[in-house]
Amino acid sequence: MELLPFKNEKLTDFTIDENKEAMMQALEGVLASFGTEYSLIIGGKEYTSEHIIESRNPANPDEIVGVVYGGDKHIANEAIENAHEAFEEWSWISAEKRAMYLLKAASILRKRKHEISATMVYEAGKSWAEADADTAEAIDFLEYYARSAISYSKDQELYPYPDEVSTYRYIPLGVGAIIAPWNFPAAILTGMTSAAIVTGNTAVLKPASDTPVVGAKLANILYECGLPPGVLNFVPGPGSTVGEQLVKHNLTRFISFTGSMKIGKRIYEMASVVWEGQKWLKRVVTEMGGKNALIIDDPCDITAAVKATVASAFGYQGQKCSACSRAIVVESLYNSYMKELLDAVGKITVGPTNMHENYMGPVSSKEAFDKILHYIDIGKKEATLAHGGNSVKGVGYFIEPTIFVDVDPMARIAQEEIFGPVLSIIKSKDFNDALAIANYTTYGLTGGIFSNNRRHIERAKKEFHVGNFYINRKITGALVGVQPFGGYNMSGTCSKAGGPEYLQLFMQTKSMVERI
Ligand code: NDP
Repeated sequence: MELLPFKNEKLTDFTIDENKEAMMQALEGVLASFGTEYSLIIGGKEYTSEHIIESRNPANPDEIVGVVYGGDKHIANEAIENAHEAFEEWSWISAEKRAMYLLKAASILRKRKHEISATMVYEAGKSWAEADADTAEAIDFLEYYARSAISYSKDQELYPYPDEVSTYRYIPLGVGAIIAPWNFPAAILTGMTSAAIVTGNTAVLKPASDTPVVGAKLANILYECGLPPGVLNFVPGPGSTVGEQLVKHNLTRFISFTGSMKIGKRIYEMASVVWEGQKWLKRVVTEMGGKNALIIDDPCDITAAVKATVASAFGYQGQKCSACSRAIVVESLYNSYMKELLDAVGKITVGPTNMHENYMGPVSSKEAFDKILHYIDIGKKEATLAHGGNSVKGVGYFIEPTIFVDVDPMARIAQEEIFGPVLSIIKSKDFNDALAIANYTTYGLTGGIFSNNRRHIERAKKEFHVGNFYINRKITGALVGVQPFGGYNMSGTCSKAGGPEYLQLFMQTKSMVERI
């Protein structure tokens, strides 16, 4: 099967009237569908249950975006057993055929692009541009992993040996538990799920409890493509019950998780236990949080640095694992950088993101809102508040873009992941000092430098210990196939999603030798 080379999905230009109109219509459509019920999917059949998840609009929590039927421990078991049964046949289907399901799903998603983005505007509080990029990334994962799976399906080259033919082949693992976060409810969920199934595994997908409607729509899209029953099972529900059971089940062969460090560590521990009847050691991929820093070095283009800081720190309300939560600024240009930064942040618009003009929307939930405000209180004691620092009055979980200055590199707000629109500014004596501060964290996800000093750039490339390092640009927005994504240390197992080796994490290898 000859496929065109992979190309990233184009982002929508909402300055074009036609695109703006299409998105407005999609928003109206999603609004009109508020309250729709979404089923569990097990063994290809849809089910309701007594566990009801009301997914609410964080911009107006009185509004119910959708009602999703959830699982419990028994339902999780049933889903795993169905996936186990389906593995028998699915694992023998050719990679080309499995890839076709992904390509079909990509084409449906492309047609329903604005609807999925509009759902994220209401369910996750994303701005139009952020939601559009999330949907585009989901399409990219489907297209990229389809191609990648086909390339892995060919027997790999080995050195010859006299009188023998040796073969090296990638084969699937078994049943996977896919546990997704709410912050990229389309892209990350689709990426982890499609990688699992295209490599011949079957899976149980548990979306985050804050964004189950987007998850349900994506699971349904995969079934619309004719996926055989049981290959993908959709079981929303609390992480503490459904999630834990999926991880613990003795038929679960691997876990693909993206979320917080706390839960990632818990999953890692639970998966290390060999439960009764279990015949393997589980494979665990955990992609977790970050405490990402941007170094502002002297000399650099301050205006570009400020623009990148704002986008990285406040895009999607700072709720990206890659978000910049520390700007480390060398003393010599501190004043000029701060002046431009405060001017720029003063212009950020905060409000419901169904209105295109709002750059920042609500944070994801009441829990996130309370946690972020708690960290802002800590910041007020640890440092000096330079901008924001309050929630926005009215309904919805809105928080002002917030900047603290005079932050000690060891302060809690400089060490712990806040996951909200809170930026700590740390002044450094010079570049050496900045680099040491940047590395002083348990995380290692993204990082960047603004500098015109080639020597500093080259040193930072070597010594700034992060999985994704950026030079003279923002530190968010990794592109599938172009900037494979994943971090070190407590940021995760460095899976490099969207990269050439990612699918290996979902497969094992078989060596075969035939004497001739
Ligand atoms: P959480 O860790 O809270 O949740 C992630 C998923 O795990 C959810 O589906 C959750 O279910 C589930 N879960 C919770 N408890 C358990 C448990 N005991 N056993 C099994 N599953 C469980 O993360 P968030 O959803 O809040 O996502 C934000 C976090 O994700 C941030 O820390 C962010 O940095 C990180 N992230 C990392 C990325 C990376 O590539 N490194 C990319 C994107 C986000 P439920 O929703 O029901 O609680």
